[in-house]
Amino acid sequence: MCRHLAFLGPPTSLAELLLVPEHGLLRQSWAPRRQRYGTVNADGFGVGWYAPRDDIPARYRRAVPIWADGSFADVARVTRSTAVLAAVRSATAGTSLDESAAAPYAHGRWLFSHNGRIEGWPDGVGRLAAQLPPSRLLSLEAQVDSALLWALVLERLAAGAAAGEALARTVADVLEVSAGRLNLLLTDGGTITATAVGDTLFWRSDPAGTLVASEPSDDGPDWHEVPDGSLLTATRTSVDVRPLTRPRKEPATP
Ligand code: GLN
Repeated sequence: MCRHLAFLGPPTSLAELLLVPEHGLLRQSWAPRRQRYGTVNADGFGVGWYAPRDDIPARYRRAVPIWADGSFADVARVTRSTAVLAAVRSATAGTSLDESAAAPYAHGRWLFSHNGRIEGWPDGVGRLAAQLPPSRLLSLEAQVDSALLWALVLERLAAGAAAGEALARTVADVLEVSAGRLNLLLTDGGTITATAVGDTLFWRSDPAGTLVASEPSDDGPDWHEVPDGSLLTATRTSVDVRPLTRPRKEPATP
């Protein structure tokens, strides 16, 4: 499994968020402390961040371990942002290994990451794929279960669902056809929305900002663990955690 993180807060360098903390994403790539599946996260990494006066986030993704990219460390030191989503990857067997499969995935102002797997992918997900219009299915970002999840989330966002509803409905639909670990993480730069389904998730919110992460990046006392089966919605100043409920099905049209 992977480790991912999202941040909202005052301008903060990518290095301060990801590289400097004792148990930050850099350290989690080779020595995660809470990881239940897999051991290291060395199959690539990615960072998406929002810059002033531009709604569309920038992305930096590589297929190499985050510790092996000295140029990223240099850029991260001087790149500051108020909204960031980043992930280090431990690839699920049978998926693409190039940087196209490294989160965050992006569309417009959205950034997305998935920590977990859909059991039985790809053979068991025919019914899910059938929910998507061919254009969406043919433009999957990579051959990986996470890209299918992202397409399902995007389809719901495009249909007008709010972020939390889009994630909840996607989780429910996947679990209807297959088992899976579905920790999803989504941001538009103003709000973070996340699910905890099968893997670890924590949050912390203080004047330095709000962090939502697979695991704490330090031993500070202010981290809260998100119970399994939850939907989290966070802004710069607030965090709401509630049980994931099965979203009401739209009434069938006669
Ligand atoms: N299934 C996703 C991938 O292959 C996420 C894997 C993970 O959480 N380790 O990238």
